[in-house]
Amino acid sequence: MAKAFFGGVHPHDGKAATNGKPIEQLAPPKQVVIPMSQHFGAPCKPLVQKGDHVKLGQKIGETQGLGAPIHASVSGTVAAVEPRPYSMGGDVLSVVIDNDFQDELSEEVVAPADPDLLSVEEMVEIVKNAGIVGMGGATFPTHVKISGGIGQVTTVIINGAECEPYITGDHRAMLERPEQIVGGCRYLAKMFGVDKVVIGVELNKKDGIDALNKTIAETKAPVVVQPLRTRYPQGGEKQLCQAITGRQVPPGGLPSAIGCAVFNINTTCAIYRALTTGMPVVRKVVTVSGSGVVEPKNLECPIGTPVRELFDACGGLKDETFKLIAGGPMMGMAQYTADISVAKGTGALLAFALDENKTVDDPTCIRCGRCVEACPMHLEPLYLYQFVQKKLVDELNDYHIMDCMECGACAYICPGRLHLTQSFKAGKQLVKDDAAKKKAAAEAAKAAEEQKGA
Ligand code: SF4
Ligand code: SF4
Repeated sequence: MAKAFFGGVHPHDGKAATNGKPIEQLAPPKQVVIPMSQHFGAPCKPLVQKGDHVKLGQKIGETQGLGAPIHASVSGTVAAVEPRPYSMGGDVLSVVIDNDFQDELSEEVVAPADPDLLSVEEMVEIVKNAGIVGMGGATFPTHVKISGGIGQVTTVIINGAECEPYITGDHRAMLERPEQIVGGCRYLAKMFGVDKVVIGVELNKKDGIDALNKTIAETKAPVVVQPLRTRYPQGGEKQLCQAITGRQVPPGGLPSAIGCAVFNINTTCAIYRALTTGMPVVRKVVTVSGSGVVEPKNLECPIGTPVRELFDACGGLKDETFKLIAGGPMMGMAQYTADISVAKGTGALLAFALDENKTVDDPTCIRCGRCVEACPMHLEPLYLYQFVQKKLVDELNDYHIMDCMECGACAYICPGRLHLTQSFKAGKQLVKDDAAKKKAAAEAAKAAEEQKGA
């Protein structure tokens, strides 16, 4: 039986533009711009400088604390190491490489002799060195999630919901790369010591479910596919855990609190590739779609490919295009420039040219309560909005603003067209700033007290 979670909405999914289109390989770009911060955690430290020759798969960015290393996605010469615009906002230190089109493979890329004989520790180390992060957009370092969950996690879930409108890269991977997904599941089962892995897939990808089940049956893999009701945000980690296990992640907690670990479909493919070929994350599947794109497609390209090249490969942008988004329309980031490049977390590039921007001059709450019904985190968006406007930090904490996953379901359903999600991002920052201020004050008071006693 298909399973679901509390709340949610049914936006127009826009997937028909690309879900029937196989993943195409983009022509190699002349230059790639590889940001040193493509993950949750501290930015990487560049290991190369201008003029250096680099090879495909060579490590060019080293972690500094929580993070994942970054690798050259083409071979060639480093043209610059400098800040460049980044899809997640601002400018980020980036390594710019002029492609020599030789695809000269780095000696660092070594396939394990027999992946099935690797110990759990060796597998985690390979995942770490391959720079794998949550490829669905969360970009949390995968080796940290695995090593932190070993011994605690009893349910390993693969997120095949792909509930964000327009995005179809995971769906295409189910159809075109099911052996990588199922193979990755097999390794995850071994790492966590569980007897099966569950892949949750929304029912709007019936052919994807069939393709996975066929591969599971052929390979006798310890994997089951759980069909899910099509409802946004089914792919939220907490919603997925609830739909599959019936258990709820406690407020402020992570899936590991209820014994779950969740991995994205393309992350699972990356784990498989790293363990079987030694190849780190150097390529990304990106859905290029929206009413502003002449011919929407699913494209695979080297990390760091300028997004203009992806739009050009789709026939370019229509003149009326008024908005670019990196990611999906619900959780993606609107871009002020097209001078950004593809990063590990870039699942989609959307351009809009029609009347999709449903804003009004005077957003007004009519107290209809629809945002409360839609919120999958059981929050009360209408009150949170008022508290943010008045900067009432205590009330924001009391109403659990930090549990907001910024899914956009409330903003989508709101007939008053309030900028709810945007305001909650600002509200969460208010709470963080306040907590930092209080911590600094407490530390200063403690230091003064110690000084007095000295
Ligand atoms: S959905 Fe919008 S208009 Fe309705 S109560 Fe919530 S904030 Fe107000
Ligand atoms: S954006 Fe936040 S408040 Fe709005 S529905 Fe999603 S989780 Fe709830």
